[in-house]
Amino acid sequence: MRAVLAPEALEAIVEELRRRDWRVVAPTVRDKAIVYDEIASAAELPVGWKDVQAPGSYKLELRDDEARFGYAVGPQSWKRELLAPSVRLLQIERTHGSFKAAEDAAEAKRTAFFGVRPCEVAAIKIQDRVLIGGSFADGDYLARRKNSFVIAVNCGEPAANCFCASMNTGPKAEDGYDLVLTEILDGAHRFLAEAGTGEGAELLAKLPQQPAADADLSAAQKVTDTAREKMGITLDRSDVRDLLLANLEHPRYDDVAGRCLACTNCTLACPTCFCTTVDDANDLSGAGSERTRKWDSCFTAQYSEMHGGGTRRSLQSRYRQWLIHKLATWNDQFDTQGCVGCGRCITWCPVGIDIREEVSAIRATQEAKP
Ligand code: SF4
Ligand code: SF4
Repeated sequence: MRAVLAPEALEAIVEELRRRDWRVVAPTVRDKAIVYDEIASAAELPVGWKDVQAPGSYKLELRDDEARFGYAVGPQSWKRELLAPSVRLLQIERTHGSFKAAEDAAEAKRTAFFGVRPCEVAAIKIQDRVLIGGSFADGDYLARRKNSFVIAVNCGEPAANCFCASMNTGPKAEDGYDLVLTEILDGAHRFLAEAGTGEGAELLAKLPQQPAADADLSAAQKVTDTAREKMGITLDRSDVRDLLLANLEHPRYDDVAGRCLACTNCTLACPTCFCTTVDDANDLSGAGSERTRKWDSCFTAQYSEMHGGGTRRSLQSRYRQWLIHKLATWNDQFDTQGCVGCGRCITWCPVGIDIREEVSAIRATQEAKP
């Protein structure tokens, strides 16, 4: 089922979802960035804003139109909704010689993710595979995922750091959504809306709409075709697994270690990274204890700490492990790539380390070998 929506129909989407008592989480402008937060009205979307990104750099600028989704991606991803940054796993209270234990329940309200980019739809699929697709499902993630409703928005304005076309994860979402919108700005501002599930079709049927004509379909196709052309192919993934595994001791890893600050930004901003740690905290009186799961990063020296010390003590080995996991061994482990080409690790790296450039540098010396 597909239809054409006027920009005002976005308000009807928010109203309908809130009428059902769902949380509506969507992009909105805060602290000079586009972040994901709960909204009560479509007026809170980043109307008329675009993001300008470069390695280690991000800023918002006003557009000369009223585009609702005229930007690429911000610092946050939907990971914060599904694999929450901090989850209390267990709380224990001592009571008169005995104790009671309680697990925290995940957010009970249904949540609509409104404005999910195609690369982020792909990232959710990857985290589904990792966190609930194996023999043991992560209960908190599973509960949040079952409670989610995905409204994707195809991309028309990739940022300079986007490379979803290289990773085959965008700029058009092929599946993994309930409803997908394509914003068309060719004079008559409108959205092509296409349902991906029965629930998506049911929501779409409730919205004020026009039938989609052939001209609307070709205008929507042009939006994503243009975005794909703008990006080009900047990371050749055809042989990247073998390239990286054949160059484990490449001197480029020493070079990158000289620049990397081990700040962990790249992993925290990445929509697919899933490293976590577990903290136990006891209250000083001995009356209670809490166990909390928190995001962690393979860039810290402590992450690989075991009896006898850490296994990745040098920054060179930590960057290498991250890059090779993302683009090579993730495939062996999960039958899927670990990178969707969103560009966040490039934009939010304070020293502008660029995953595409690091791969190109390794490839260049490999190709130069006699
Ligand atoms: S590795 Fe970088 S480009 Fe790839 S998904 Fe993670 S943040 Fe995005
Ligand atoms: S964001 Fe950049 S500096 Fe920070 S850990 Fe990642 S690669 Fe290193």
